[in-house]
Amino acid sequence: MKDKILGVLDSLEDELIDLSNYIYENPELGLEEFKSSKAHIDILRKHGFEVEENYLGFETAFKGVYDSKKPGPTIAFLVEYDALPGIGHGCGHNILGTTSTGSGIVLKNLIDDLGGKIYVLGSPAEETNGVKVDMARAGTFDDVDIAMMAHPDGHNQISGSSLDLYPVQFTFRGKTSHASSAPDKGINALDACIATFNNINALREHLKESTRIHGIIVNGGEAANIVPDLAVAQFYVRTPVFGYIEELYEKVINCAKAGALATGASLEIEEFEKPYQAMVTNKALSDAFTQNFVDIGATDLKDKVLGGSIDMGNVSQVCPSIHPYFSISSADITPHTISFAEKTLLPEAFEGMRKTIYALVKTSTDIIENKELLASIKHEFNETFNK
Ligand SMILES: [Zn+2]
Ligand SMILES: [Zn+2]
Repeated sequence: MKDKILGVLDSLEDELIDLSNYIYENPELGLEEFKSSKAHIDILRKHGFEVEENYLGFETAFKGVYDSKKPGPTIAFLVEYDALPGIGHGCGHNILGTTSTGSGIVLKNLIDDLGGKIYVLGSPAEETNGVKVDMARAGTFDDVDIAMMAHPDGHNQISGSSLDLYPVQFTFRGKTSHASSAPDKGINALDACIATFNNINALREHLKESTRIHGIIVNGGEAANIVPDLAVAQFYVRTPVFGYIEELYEKVINCAKAGALATGASLEIEEFEKPYQAMVTNKALSDAFTQNFVDIGATDLKDKVLGGSIDMGNVSQVCPSIHPYFSISSADITPHTISFAEKTLLPEAFEGMRKTIYALVKTSTDIIENKELLASIKHEFNETFNK
């Protein structure tokens, strides 16, 4: 199987490098990835995938499907292609997306014999308002057995965890008045907002380790001589502690309610972006991938400690998933920089991509051929989520 996979991969290499480079040259922000998503759709169609465009009503989302029409598991690869303002593909989603689409196409060349079905899912806006959240909510993964993707990085890293993230916006409304001649007639919305920050700061001491609450004041009044009747704050509430987010979120909401109560302001609570759930790596699946990754020459694998949040987390809570990292450079590189983006153009990056596609595809064929492996992956998932 190894030689077969590498044979197909070699025949596709130029096309995949062209795809990654084209997306690098045409960086597009989240939900505006028109050229990038089209480039993925075109190559998938060329290689025999049926592609549904405008998936779930998102213009730059797509669902590519290839069905061997023989019994077997359904395997999903998640494709990202959004860029960052000012620094283009500083997160390397050009090579990330190509790795996922490339894996789908290589596997497609093998499953007519083996059985099973492939989904290649184009998921826009990972950096801002990730559409994987909508996919997970809409049931995209209901008939999927495993979901995989891999992110470029400075090191090879085993799929790990990420932080639960709830974005919350508080709008406080009070009453304007002259701040000096008639302050007793006003209700100060900004004070309610500042009290919320202070309450949250008092709360911090009593929260579970590595929990993060960070916020800004978006609107804090119009003029110093007017009692502010409107104040708006946005917070990200994050925790790596599995199962803690609801309790934590409620405590933060209470801080805002207390600020409103103390000042007499009213309070509206909104989710201003989509919540990203914690990444829960399926260890049985991750072990299978890691073994194949090492087998093709990936070295120096580290455990991933992610201080941020990813929308693959939401997928991992509805379907056994992995989100490992692959090295694109031996230089010391930092994501979200121009230099990171430039490294995705070099042969070393494509060597990392090649190893990763191999490992993703080999893990897929292992799962198709070895029913016990898939059973152990599903058993672990069901145990974790009490299903
Ligand atoms: Zn990023
Ligand atoms: Zn990224």
